[in-house]
Amino acid sequence: MNLKETLNATGETLIKTGSPDAKLEAEVLIRHVLGIDRATFFRDLDEPVTDSDRQHLDDLVVRRLRREPLNYITGFREFYGLSFEVSDSVLIPRQETELLVETVISLARSRPKHEIKICDVGTGSGAIAISLAVNLPFAEITAIDISQSALDIADANRRTHGVYNRVALRRGNLLEPVDFKPEIIVSNPPYIPMGDLSLLQPEIQYEPRVALDGGTDGLELIRGLLSQSLDKVSSTGAILFEIDSSQENSARILAREYFPNSHISVLDDLSGSSRAILIEEISQ
Ligand code: GLN
Repeated sequence: MNLKETLNATGETLIKTGSPDAKLEAEVLIRHVLGIDRATFFRDLDEPVTDSDRQHLDDLVVRRLRREPLNYITGFREFYGLSFEVSDSVLIPRQETELLVETVISLARSRPKHEIKICDVGTGSGAIAISLAVNLPFAEITAIDISQSALDIADANRRTHGVYNRVALRRGNLLEPVDFKPEIIVSNPPYIPMGDLSLLQPEIQYEPRVALDGGTDGLELIRGLLSQSLDKVSSTGAILFEIDSSQENSARILAREYFPNSHISVLDDLSGSSRAILIEEISQ
């Protein structure tokens, strides 16, 4: 079989995963096996595929048919225009989380002073922290996670992206390892209600529970984050965290309970769903 026939056959097979992007996933897996970029792939469509490459591809297709996420199979995920190493120790960064990065970048740029201390709570692969460091050259980021294996991945990513010196990694529960007052606290915490987890698509079952399980109502970690933020966040600062759109009201009420005198807004992602809560004008 040549590359084109392999692409078509693999695309057909991957339809069984229910993925709407079966053909694109087939291309990604084939390019991963061959170690080639898109341009080379389309240039070489008539070239034959060797038996050993075919065998390797078949093994990866079997994993994907078991609904292992594509990005765990390739080991990489694009986020905010950067490529991040991922493994099943970290949540796969979602496109909608780019909203958090965009918002922090504009908050940071609108400040009179460029030097800024930012904490990313529950950093996982480091996607948020590292995207911020790459785009905000004067920012010092502290990225925290409770999982050492997640911090190991974040460490690899901060080195790859050349921001090792401006992204400090700390292990601990939420803000506990932080002994200074950051201007911005950003977080994509676990927020799925515990009881809903097993109902979600099979791919999510491969992701770390600790990154998804938000307790009984999904808000337990957010409650902890807000409570710890009370005496950690700078009085000129802001807190930004991701939510599910169904939590818009409950999360806004929670934010109001902890920060009654602050300005609280709900931010929408690109698909128009409520995706984050921003707390500003923190004065205590
Ligand atoms: N948005 C993610 C999902 O639905 C959940 C991420 C999280 O809990 N932080 O899979």
